[in-house]
Amino acid sequence: MTVNTPASGAARVDALIIGAGPAGTTAATLLAQQGLTVWLVERDAFPRFRIGESLLPGGNAILKRLGIWDKMDDAGFLRKYGAEFVSSDGKSRVHNVFADGLIKDLDYAYQVERSRFDKLLLDNAVAAGAVLQQPCRVISVKERVGENEQNGWHVTLDNGTQRLEVETDWLLDASGRTAFLGRRLKLTEDEIPYPKRFAVYNHFHSVKRAPGPQGNNIIVTRLRDGWFWAIPLDEKKTSVGVVSTRKREEWKDPNFTPEVFFDNEVQRGEFLRELLENATPLDDFRVTADYTYSFSHFGGPRHLLLGDAACFIDPIFSSGVYIAMRSAEMAADAVLQARQEKRSLSAADTRRYTRRLKSNVRTMRRLIEVYYHQQGYAVFMSPTDRLQLFQAVNSIVAGNSKPGFAVSWRFRLFLLVCWLNRYFNMVPGQRLQ
Ligand SMILES: Cc1cc2nc3c(=O)[nH]c(=O)nc-3n(C[C@H](O)[C@H](O)[C@H](O)COP(=O)(O)OP(=O)(O)OC[C@H]3O[C@@H](n4cnc5c(N)ncnc54)[C@H](O)[C@@H]3O)c2cc1C
Repeated sequence: MTVNTPASGAARVDALIIGAGPAGTTAATLLAQQGLTVWLVERDAFPRFRIGESLLPGGNAILKRLGIWDKMDDAGFLRKYGAEFVSSDGKSRVHNVFADGLIKDLDYAYQVERSRFDKLLLDNAVAAGAVLQQPCRVISVKERVGENEQNGWHVTLDNGTQRLEVETDWLLDASGRTAFLGRRLKLTEDEIPYPKRFAVYNHFHSVKRAPGPQGNNIIVTRLRDGWFWAIPLDEKKTSVGVVSTRKREEWKDPNFTPEVFFDNEVQRGEFLRELLENATPLDDFRVTADYTYSFSHFGGPRHLLLGDAACFIDPIFSSGVYIAMRSAEMAADAVLQARQEKRSLSAADTRRYTRRLKSNVRTMRRLIEVYYHQQGYAVFMSPTDRLQLFQAVNSIVAGNSKPGFAVSWRFRLFLLVCWLNRYFNMVPGQRLQ
């Protein structure tokens, strides 16, 4: 749908948002609700496939603020009450029931087919007054400088038949892992000491499930070189994938296809073999490679980077969509504040935005590091009720990425125990398959 395309000359808007994923649509809705003229520019026609299907309860408050919480059940999304971490031989299991965490009101989230979830968010942004340009690609941006300082951006769009020129006061980059602005501006990136990882995934029919509500939970299994996920999407359809650090050179072998790789990984342990015993893939396998990164700084006087366009972390704990929407909320609030005071974002504003977003991400990264380290994984898979440590970890797994004192000291203690276990082997590591 294309709305309000100017016949000639440059259009003039308050805010232009690149990308209509969860970050872009969240920011568009919040800004349009406050009366800004917002152009939301999305290169793909919807509905379109997207990975990132398991939500966290931490994001529920944002869905409520956007006004779509009540539509989630009606849309047919499955309620997710927790996450199950299972060893590949099926012998050890940790069941994180969100309602048992230390933070109340984080009882459940949803498993969403992103083609439908993103469309719901998009329709909501348009209903709030955002003007949608779709399919339409942002192809270039140029800083617009006023008398003394930058006061906006000149943006060029391409909708396939014509180029559109737009003048905007604010530019929000929510282009996902394309990281349009970061790459265009050649922003510096943080050093992230992780090996290169890639994911191979597909939707499947007839993956085994536990009976009752527990069957709606995400299942995560640690493998020797990575991990495996199964996310129920509806009665029959399940999203299944493997993340691995195996050497990309193996992919040069023509016999080493994504299917072969996936099957080899599944055959490693009884648990996955049984889970997928009767399952059939519904599509071609997809591959996403080399995906962990973070720009050092997420904004400037008239722009901010949102969601994956700012940084991306391993999705073991399903934090991507929540962090994308949370960043959009923080970005929209920062823009509204500066606009109300008739000024640009100050260096302090953009530092605060960067610091807050990175701090949310860091909490999840600490958990990811524990999970990938064999001795940390051993502690993670042997939860203790002592001092309510497990409940605190449970709250982080539910997306409490900015924990208050009650969770944060327990989480720190848990991290300390994981670290000590590297040296004292208090909880013996498990053999990984
Ligand atoms: C293998 C894998 C598994 C994952 N699993 C989970 C999970 O279970 N749970 C979870 O929460 N997260 C998960 N994630 C992360 C999740 O996918 C992302 O964090 C989330 O989609 C980020 O949202 P976003 O709005 O920032 O970007 P996106 O959802 O990527 O949206 C960006 C949009 O920008 C558009 N765009 C790009 N460039 C342009 C341009 N130049 N002009 C116009 N439009 C443009 C794109 O078409 C796209 O629609 C997973 C990621 C991977 C790789």
